[in-house]
Amino acid sequence: MTKTREIDVEQFVFGNAKSIRALTPNGPDEEISPLSYLRFLQLYVHKMGGVVDQVDLEAEIEKHFGAIWGPEDVRPIQVFGEYSRPKWKNSLDWAKVMARKQTPQILSRTQKRKTGKLSVLVLIGSDTDPEWLEFVQKKVKRHFKKKCRSCKRWVGLSAKACPNCQHVFPAASARKHKLPK
Ligand SMILES: [Zn+2]
Repeated sequence: MTKTREIDVEQFVFGNAKSIRALTPNGPDEEISPLSYLRFLQLYVHKMGGVVDQVDLEAEIEKHFGAIWGPEDVRPIQVFGEYSRPKWKNSLDWAKVMARKQTPQILSRTQKRKTGKLSVLVLIGSDTDPEWLEFVQKKVKRHFKKKCRSCKRWVGLSAKACPNCQHVFPAASARKHKLPK
């Protein structure tokens, strides 16, 4: 893959709406980087004492980034085993994968319950509730896939072309870092 695309780095102050509105809104072929969501979720999980419901995290992300999202951030995409959802939620999933490799670690787990789906992010640390630590460390490995527009079959997310019909997937859009501090 060529590494010629330019990456803008801008910063805003976590929780400060004015500093976010001062950022450059994304253009048609730009999207907020997973790294931006990683930094954001790390700050948010710390602020919330180590345990965060995915629903609350997504609401907080919309509140912060909503005004500077471009069409690519909100473009509906199909996700394996789910209805379509805006693309930024995929980037958030990548951020959650990265969060597992950071120090301190933040792990996430989704569980189906009678009342609906429960999805939580948990900071691995001595101050975190032991019951949540136990819950989140039972995490099962996820498989990431994307749907081929041409043959409608599911293929690995990293594939450059479809192994079934040879459809070449479009090049990735430029990732824009809008980092909280
Ligand atoms: Zn295909």
